[in-house]
Amino acid sequence: MDRKIWRKSYGSLPGLPCPRCKTGKVRSNSKLFYQKQPKYVTTSLTQLELQDVSEGRFTCFMTCDYEFCGEVVAVSGDFRSHDEYVYNPETEEHDSFEDKMLLPKSMVPAPPIITWPENLDAAPRQHLVHSFELFWINRGACAGRLRIFIEALLDQLGVVREGTKRNGKNGTLDLSERIDELDKVKPGHKAALDALRYVGNFGSHEGDAAFEDLVVCYDILETTLVELIENKRAKLEAEVAAIITRKGKPRTGRGLLGRRIICEPFREFGKSARMGTGSDGKRPQ
Ligand SMILES: [Zn+2]
Repeated sequence: MDRKIWRKSYGSLPGLPCPRCKTGKVRSNSKLFYQKQPKYVTTSLTQLELQDVSEGRFTCFMTCDYEFCGEVVAVSGDFRSHDEYVYNPETEEHDSFEDKMLLPKSMVPAPPIITWPENLDAAPRQHLVHSFELFWINRGACAGRLRIFIEALLDQLGVVREGTKRNGKNGTLDLSERIDELDKVKPGHKAALDALRYVGNFGSHEGDAAFEDLVVCYDILETTLVELIENKRAKLEAEVAAIITRKGKPRTGRGLLGRRIICEPFREFGKSARMGTGSDGKRPQ
């Protein structure tokens, strides 16, 4: 996840990941940018003699730069701008520049803020994708949706919804109790999931969440998903443990490169290695 591209406001919209393909980025085009200032704002700014200032609504289209995709994202929100004057020594006059700030309030379809493993089930995936749209529209609702996403993720991981609660009685487990259940079989993710739960709880109850906290939550989530669903860390730790057990000696009985020899030159090298020599006729180091 590239944190710096997810912001509350932009001078100009950066290239964002395409919601449809994994290859392209959606990019804005100044020809497809529209802005309009409401009349009441014009009246107020005129009364305040602020002719260099402008405020209102904008809409624009971003298009995927991958030529076989060409997905279109509709963006809308608020804009604020004011004119800046910079002295130009060549013309001995002041050049004016519009300093603009865009505050997106909706992106449809929303660019994915994080990537996720291919084998994430449809139910949690749909909640995750929906959270990307809510991220712009309503941060509290986005945090609440991430909380629902975690429940669906725990379903995929086989964590039960009914069981023995903390008070010793049997019943429906709350999210905190389900995270504890996961920790018993897959330790190491409790803190990350609890952070998401807290942000989700606050979003659900208070109707808001801090923008920066949501960005951190997505960052935690991206790493946690890879570890939980692809078991990447567990696989790496198993491989590291195997190397330590062998004290660095190559695995025996499968040739120098093991069973998975992927191309002919390596196959030939593997044969000669098993015979005790390398492809150059010398004993491998
Ligand atoms: Zn695309």
